[in-house]
Amino acid sequence: MEDSVFTKIIKREISSEIVYEDEDTIAFLDIAPANPGHTLVVPKKPARNVFDIDEENWTDLYRTVRRVAPAVRDAAGAAGVNIIMNNEAAAGQEVFHAHVHIIPRFAKDGLTPWPKKEYGEGEKAAVAEKIRAALAS
Ligand code: AMP
Repeated sequence: MEDSVFTKIIKREISSEIVYEDEDTIAFLDIAPANPGHTLVVPKKPARNVFDIDEENWTDLYRTVRRVAPAVRDAAGAAGVNIIMNNEAAAGQEVFHAHVHIIPRFAKDGLTPWPKKEYGEGEKAAVAEKIRAALAS
């Protein structure tokens, strides 16, 4: 399988602004930031996304997210951050090597993550039951 763009960054085959690295993870600036300082955290051991990543890799990934997020906030002078992971194309995933976005946020910066919809009659209970059933299977 061909290396992902993120594997090439890990191997230093293409350049990026790396802000953090340890044995298991790397963090670098997104090339097309939602706001300045937008950072991607990536596990070195390749996984596609949440659906195939193993628990240890996941834990390592989010340990680094927790470590890097305050530094991104402070360096960007932001009031907060969004931590977002896109999983599969339908959810906006474009690079199929698991990664977490840390996006600096400012009051009224114009970024709108998603709409707030309403459930129809009985829909909430039905979908909750399907999730419980999937978890039990
Ligand atoms: P996603 O849509 O969640 O798969 O996000 C992929 C992200 O990778 C996008 O926000 C891109 O801007 C970013 N990206 C793609 N190529 C590079 C690169 N060479 N260096 C840094 N970020 C990149």
